[in-house]
Amino acid sequence: MTDLIDLSLAAARDAIASRQITAVELVGAYTQRVESTRALNAFITETLDQALARARAVDAGQVTGSMAGIPIGIKDLFCTKGVQTTAGSAILKGFVPPYDSTVSAKLESAGAISLGKLNLDEFAMGSSNATSHYGPVTNPWKRSGDDRALVPGGSSGGSAAAVATRSVLAATATDTGGSIRQPAAFTGTAGIKPTYGRCSRFGIVAFASSLDQAGVIARDVRDSAIMLQVMCGHDPQDSTSAPLPVPNWEAALTGDIRGLKIGVPKEYRLDGTNPEILALWDRGLAWAKAAGAEIIEVSLPHTRYALATYYIVAPAEASSNLARYDGVRFGQRVPGKTLDEMYENTRAAGFGAEVKRRILIGTYTLSAGYYDAYYLKAQKVRALIARDFADAFKTVDVMLTPTAPTAAFALGEKMDDPIAMYLNDVFTVPASLAGLPAMSIPAGLSGDGLPLGLHLIGKPFDEATVLRTAHVLEQQAGFTARPAGY
Ligand code: GLN
Repeated sequence: MTDLIDLSLAAARDAIASRQITAVELVGAYTQRVESTRALNAFITETLDQALARARAVDAGQVTGSMAGIPIGIKDLFCTKGVQTTAGSAILKGFVPPYDSTVSAKLESAGAISLGKLNLDEFAMGSSNATSHYGPVTNPWKRSGDDRALVPGGSSGGSAAAVATRSVLAATATDTGGSIRQPAAFTGTAGIKPTYGRCSRFGIVAFASSLDQAGVIARDVRDSAIMLQVMCGHDPQDSTSAPLPVPNWEAALTGDIRGLKIGVPKEYRLDGTNPEILALWDRGLAWAKAAGAEIIEVSLPHTRYALATYYIVAPAEASSNLARYDGVRFGQRVPGKTLDEMYENTRAAGFGAEVKRRILIGTYTLSAGYYDAYYLKAQKVRALIARDFADAFKTVDVMLTPTAPTAAFALGEKMDDPIAMYLNDVFTVPASLAGLPAMSIPAGLSGDGLPLGLHLIGKPFDEATVLRTAHVLEQQAGFTARPAGY
């Protein structure tokens, strides 16, 4: 039999169900892997003992469900009852939630077994996982002939690295402007962000509430579909949760995209884009065509305003959401002589530089004199960006673009240049602003041996077409490369 950690989620699920393997064996194999990859710093908190106890319960038939016995990781932005939840921030160090997020609770009731809480950029703000108070995560991939450590992308860098090193079968992640898709692209994994409203946000530490959406990073498209299925569904505890049934996404993977209309947004052919990324995009289009899809150029004229719009809307919402960390109710407190001084000391010590930058920008754009000029204007442009997509989706079923403008970069690179860092999101942010489902799949290697991703964007609540198309392209790409040593 193949090594246990070589089994996909789908295969492991079937092997447990047919009693070819036990959950204890599977969790044991993954526990060893978590221990042997600790140097990458993917986990903030491990829960390996609880995991083993749950695996025993699965084998005893006391825990059942569609993911019974499957070892997963949970991004440390999801509240987990009784297990520290930090959001990557010093201010939440030691915070042990008394309740579970809806998503982590659903996974638990489906029988999935969490091995722990995964590292991330502080409050999910970043593209490199380097803003985490708990230290950066290292990408298991390296450039050929170059030993420098690279970033795994962000903010779900721990989720991506843990899946890429096979320390978990799949992981939860969240995406506000690209934080599932970009790290998936940087680590040779698959990552899907469903439509805004598909997954409940209840119990997920809020960054920008009108953009935040939970999703999955997994090894392949089928595994992503299986886990996403468990996580989604209407939740009365989240007023923006969509009251819609969740289709069977695994059954949507028919392998057939004949006659499908795939849009290519012409505005995404940015001047100065890395020729390797453009070549990968062309290859993806050729694969789609060979599989019988029709390629149609579409226009999203407001694309050039998307990043600027995102970097007004997201910090504005963050500045409001993060007002709750005042040393009174959650996590850390730094005393002061007066109440105001206690607030100031707590927030000064508890938040890192990137979070402070966003709070300052957000507070500024929401302030009385600037609200109309920045925040209100950004909301109007956001509506135009969403309308561009709605218009284009009158003629196509799904769109295909690159995921990120570059492959993974070195640890420390771009840290002193926020604008260069923000440019990582250029292809992912428009779909976030429009609330659309989108997925990155590994599609090839750069000249220096790093994974590159292709990105599919779908119509609202049409994850099925995104997954079906991604599945076909995944087969055509035949991406089997692994990071050396893992
Ligand atoms: N990189 C983007 C940011 O820093 C997106 C983060 C995210 O999706 N959570 O805001």
